[in-house]
Amino acid sequence: MQFAKRLEKIPPYLFAEIDRKRLELIAKGADIINIGVGDPDQPTPDRILQAMHEAIADPSNHNYPPYRGLPEFRQAAIAWMEGRFGVSGLNPDTEVVSSIGSKEAIHNTALAFVEPGDIVLISDPGYPVYRTSTLFAGGEPYPIPLRAENGFLPDWERIPEPVARRAKLLWVNYPNNPTGAIASLEDFTKMVEFCRAFDILLCHDNAYSEVSYDGYRAPSVLQVPGAKDIAIEFHSLSKSYNMTGWRIGFVAGNEMGIRGLSQVKTNVDSGVFKAIQRAAIAAFSMPESERRAANEVYQKRRDLVVSGLRSLGWTIEPPKATLYVWVPVPPPYTSQEFATLLLDKCGVVVPPGNGYGAAGEGFFRIALTTEDDRIRQAIARLETAGIRYN
Ligand SMILES: *Cc1c(COP(=O)(O)O)cnc(C)c1O
Repeated sequence: MQFAKRLEKIPPYLFAEIDRKRLELIAKGADIINIGVGDPDQPTPDRILQAMHEAIADPSNHNYPPYRGLPEFRQAAIAWMEGRFGVSGLNPDTEVVSSIGSKEAIHNTALAFVEPGDIVLISDPGYPVYRTSTLFAGGEPYPIPLRAENGFLPDWERIPEPVARRAKLLWVNYPNNPTGAIASLEDFTKMVEFCRAFDILLCHDNAYSEVSYDGYRAPSVLQVPGAKDIAIEFHSLSKSYNMTGWRIGFVAGNEMGIRGLSQVKTNVDSGVFKAIQRAAIAAFSMPESERRAANEVYQKRRDLVVSGLRSLGWTIEPPKATLYVWVPVPPPYTSQEFATLLLDKCGVVVPPGNGYGAAGEGFFRIALTTEDDRIRQAIARLETAGIRYN
C-alpha cells in the first residue's frame, strides 16, 4: 500500500516532539501545565444550549440540510454582519454560505481556486491550514513574513511582482493567530487594493473578531468600500461563542468566491446539522454585552500573563485581541529549544513559534485558555527555574 503523493507533501508536525515529551512526562505522573492550546475552556453559553435542546427534539431538523445552509441561518448571519460591522446588502442566496467551521471552508476554498503551480500567499507565522490546503490543491505556498517592526502586518512592497501575478489567493487573519496583532480599516484597504491590482481572491479569516479587550472592536474586511469585488471573509462561532466542538461558521462576500466554495462543498459534504444551525442563530441574536462577558475572563488572564512575564524581564505589550500572547524567546535559544526547556525544567507546555511558519522562529505562544491559578503557577515555575528574558 502506498500513500498518495499529496500526503508526503504535508510538512512534518512541528509540535510532535513536544507532544511526545509531554505525554511521556504525564505517564510518569508529572504535573504538566499546558498553556498552549487555542481551545476555549469556558462552556458554550446557556441560551445556545437551550436552542440546541429545542431544535434537536424537532424531527424537521433531522434530515439533510440545504447545502448552503438554512435560509434562516444565512439571514441571521447577514443580519449579524450588518449589526456588528455595518456591512449591509449581502445577498443571502449568493454571497453567504454555511461552513463546518472555518478549517473546512479554508481547505475547500483552495480546492475551488488553486490550480497546480498557482501561488497562494500565506501569512507567516499563520494558521497552518493555509499552507496545507494549498499543498492539497497542488499549489505553491508563498509565505509573507509578518514582522514585529511592522506590527505583524504584511509588507506589500516586498512581495515581488511576478509572484503577485501568479498568486490566486491571499490568506490574512486579523485579529491574528498566533501574534495577537490587529489590523485597522486602513490596513484592510491596502490589502483590498493589492488584491485588486493583481486579481487575487482576498481571503480574510476573521475567527477572532469577537475576542477582544480594552473596548477594542475588530473590523471586517467587508467594511472597505468595494471589498466585495475581491474579498471573502471567514467567520466561525468556535472562538466567539466557545463552540469549537460544534463545527459551524459561515463565509460571506464576493459572489464568485462563495460560488466556487459552495460548488466544492456540494460535492464533498452535506452541510451542518440543522439543529446546530438553529443553535448558531440563537448565538447571533445574543446581545453583544452578554457575549463579551467571556472576554473579561480572557482579559484578566492576559494581564496575569503580561505582568508575570514583565516581572521576569520581558518587555511585552498586552494584545488587544485573540486568545494569544506572542512572546519573544530569550537568546540564545531557538523556539524549539526554549519550548523544550520550559517542558523539561518547569513542566510547562507552549507551542514553539516556528510551528506556525519560519517567520515564527524566535517566539512562542501562550494561550489564555487555562485557569488563572495555573497561569500563576506556570509563571512561578519559570521564576523558580531562573528562566528570564535578559
Ligand atoms: C481556530 C482557528 C480557526 C478554525 O476555526 P474552526 O471554525 O473551528 O474550524 C481558523 N482560523 C484561525 C486563525 C484559528 O485560530
